[in-house]
Amino acid sequence: MKRMRIALVAAAAAATLALAGCTSGSDDAGSDEPAPTFEAGTTMARLQEAGEITIGTKFDQPLFGLAGPSGEPEGFDVEIGKIIASELGIAEDKINWVETVSANREPFIESGQVDLVVATYTINDERKEVISFAGPYYMAGQSILVLADNDDITSEDDLVGEKVCSVTGSTPAEKLAEIGAEPVLTDTYTNCLEPLRAGEVVAVSTDNVILAGLAAQNEGEFKVVGEPFTEEPYGIGVKLDDTDFRMFINDVLEESYDDGRYEEAWNSTAGTVLPFVDPPAVDRYEN
Ligand code: GLU
Repeated sequence: MKRMRIALVAAAAAATLALAGCTSGSDDAGSDEPAPTFEAGTTMARLQEAGEITIGTKFDQPLFGLAGPSGEPEGFDVEIGKIIASELGIAEDKINWVETVSANREPFIESGQVDLVVATYTINDERKEVISFAGPYYMAGQSILVLADNDDITSEDDLVGEKVCSVTGSTPAEKLAEIGAEPVLTDTYTNCLEPLRAGEVVAVSTDNVILAGLAAQNEGEFKVVGEPFTEEPYGIGVKLDDTDFRMFINDVLEESYDDGRYEEAWNSTAGTVLPFVDPPAVDRYEN
């Protein structure tokens, strides 16, 4: 009986080997290889060969990308960047983190200063003219932050004709102008907090998750009001024509949804303040 089982196991192993032999040379889907091989000439092959990657992210946005005392950023976007790097066989300590603010994300990608950007980065048609986006991997929405004792502002309608702080090169800055608020623009969202405290602006407006991070970091001082009034699908920015790299990142995202790494990344960062929601479907658009 025992011998019979061994024989069967041996036969099964031989069949597996034969199967592996048949498929070698094609793609390695289904393999558990820690170091996948990529087609020569692709960005994936170049990065894997280099053993390092440069990723642009925010450095002053709690929950998504915040540089800690060590100088290394932490947050959900940072974890997404680490997942992508690991699928290229690149260790965490071989990731070069570069601060990208809202206005310099496209130029940093176009010039090759960064290999990719994960930075609360809304996918939209205007940006898709100059770069490409993998994802979306999260759906945020524009919202409003006011002083904790302000009961006058409860929705975007209350911003009409009012000074509201946001950031140059961001989608919320454009939306504020569109709805008739008076945008007061700076380079990062933390730079909006002093003007809010000083009463130079009545509110700060950007994505709900960014505002939630700023409110949590400054407990009791601010509050987020109203319902989100835009859709901000977060994508990962890569060079315009690098479709192979974009599709590779899309594959990695989908794998991370299935195997629990995405949820784990959320729970250890933004999930300490915000509820988990299932990620939106990846959009493999043609450009
Ligand atoms: N998601 C918006 C954008 O990409 C606002 C957040 C940001 O500026 O990073 O413009």
